[in-house]
Amino acid sequence: RGEGLYRLRVTGIGNDRLLLLFSDISAARLAERMRVDFVANASHELRTPLATIMGFIETLQGPASEDGPARKRFLEIMAREAGRMTRLIDDLLSLSRIELDKYVRPTTPVGLQPLLADVGKTLAMRLDADQRKLTIDADDELPRVIGDRDQILQVLHNLVSNALKYGRTGTPITLRAERIDRPQPIIRVSVIDQGDGIALEHLPRLTERFYRVDNSRSRSLGGTGLGLAIVKHIVERHRGELGIDSQEGIGTTVSFTLPQAENGAMSHN
Ligand code: ADP
Repeated sequence: RGEGLYRLRVTGIGNDRLLLLFSDISAARLAERMRVDFVANASHELRTPLATIMGFIETLQGPASEDGPARKRFLEIMAREAGRMTRLIDDLLSLSRIELDKYVRPTTPVGLQPLLADVGKTLAMRLDADQRKLTIDADDELPRVIGDRDQILQVLHNLVSNALKYGRTGTPITLRAERIDRPQPIIRVSVIDQGDGIALEHLPRLTERFYRVDNSRSRSLGGTGLGLAIVKHIVERHRGELGIDSQEGIGTTVSFTLPQAENGAMSHN
């Protein structure tokens, strides 16, 4: 039946009878392969900045030991690379924590409005530095959602950060939250940028760990390659849907849905 990997176990069960056990192991093999790839990728991502740091330590111990301006420059590079490693480790820990809670469905009603405002405040300096304006477009009467407050904040943070990283200087970013009552009562949150956009062929793979359209661009902007993988896991845990809609040269809209809290209460608390 189709393509796949199957295991056949043959056991004698007496009276000249055999038991044939035929099991599909392709899913297990695929999961194993992904786990091995993930460890290899994570090690490589950590090794690269570490190698840079080691290289500069050697230079500082040797030829550059007396050269003040060079020492200053090298220490800055080392600090930047150490920062990259810290971000990567934080993202790896986030991913494993989310996976641990995968089957525990969030049950708390959460007001979205304060979270939308929080993201704007946390990223205010970066927005200003890039002359970007974040517009929050959400109804005051927005019902609360059922979710994990910190995880929703992390999703919003990752998506607005991406809009900042891959958008053009001076262009606006919109953070929209809207109520959709049919067929199910949900809230859809969208982050809309006017940036580079993403070519169609990349869209299906963007939520894979360490998948980037342009490796060096993402790295130089401080990306870990894990942001959208984290988003996908959190949205799945909330039984929501993630959608990425993009046009090269025009911009990207990333949306996710969350269930409305049953009582339809306001989102101010
Ligand atoms: P990264 O840390 O590299 O930003 P992500 O998982 O957040 O990792 O995103 C994966 C890749 O998807 C990015 O490297 C980038 O190529 C692309 N991408 C994500 N968001 C956007 C966006 N808003 N506009 C253009 N490209 C994007």
